[in-house]
Amino acid sequence: ATPAAVLASLARLARSGVLVKGGAAIERLAKVDCLAFDKTGTLTEGRPELADRRTFGGWDPDGVLRLAAAAERSSEHPLARLLVTEANRAGLDLPLSDDFLAHPGAGVEAKVEGRSILVGNLRLFRERGIAVAPEVEEALDALDESGQTALLVAVEGQIVGVLGARDRVRAEAHDVVHALKHLGLKDQTILTGDRLAPARAIGRKVHIAQIEAELTPAAKAEWIHRKQHEGRIVAMIGDGINDAPALAMADVGIALGGVGTDIAAEAGSIVLMGDPLMPLPGAIEQARRTVRNIR
Ligand code: ADP
Ligand code: MG
Repeated sequence: ATPAAVLASLARLARSGVLVKGGAAIERLAKVDCLAFDKTGTLTEGRPELADRRTFGGWDPDGVLRLAAAAERSSEHPLARLLVTEANRAGLDLPLSDDFLAHPGAGVEAKVEGRSILVGNLRLFRERGIAVAPEVEEALDALDESGQTALLVAVEGQIVGVLGARDRVRAEAHDVVHALKHLGLKDQTILTGDRLAPARAIGRKVHIAQIEAELTPAAKAEWIHRKQHEGRIVAMIGDGINDAPALAMADVGIALGGVGTDIAAEAGSIVLMGDPLMPLPGAIEQARRTVRNIR
């Protein structure tokens, strides 16, 4: 039976926008000593903007954007939505695509107008054995340096362009990170499928120094599993896009529910509504208080 104090606590948390699935999750939350944050859509708003673009082999930027956006049409990833929005804004008519295949945490591929299109990160392109010319490497380095996430675009295995995307840090993220440190939660890490450079740029803004980059969704879950093996009690905070396995692996999966993915709400044992990260420190404080009261 659930003690009355726990039920009261669940109700109070719910009123502050924190949906906790059961009393056991409150007890685990009270004991958490290690926090892992997803980057895209969690520490950042997940509404990236297109910044620098480079094209190769005589392609024009809109031609590259048109094919990339067509390939991304079936993806719900924030970067995919960005390309589709930008293509629409530029007035480009998006052709239909076939044989769509998502590579979680890496990119997508599809057939567009009979040509195979690959959009994603350098790791995916290397795995595919796609040649990366020195001028492409240069473009990637420049994007890294300015903290942009690079999207490579290939047509029939040839790189035709590199698009840079920039995402804003959530307004509350910095203060929330500090409030959590104030609660003694100093072990905080960003887990991301993105490259180290753009992840570091975000880490500097929110004051999280520990960064694990270029992780697949499965590798994020494995990282958490290793921490648990070291005796840590881990909370993972994520938006459910490419981090659902990590949310499920964590002792406490904390999902950003206001962001619109049902996967997150299902994978997490706690769902944060409203102004996503804001209620987190208060929820941990209250969980600790509740557990003290029932002992
Ligand atoms: P994060 O861990 O920061 O939330 P993801 O795991 O969602 O990021 O994605 C990691 C990286 O994989 C992205 O930075 C991007 O380079 C690439 N990627 C993932 N999904 C897509 C997509 N739909 N289109 C292009 N690139 C993608
Ligand atoms: Mg994410």
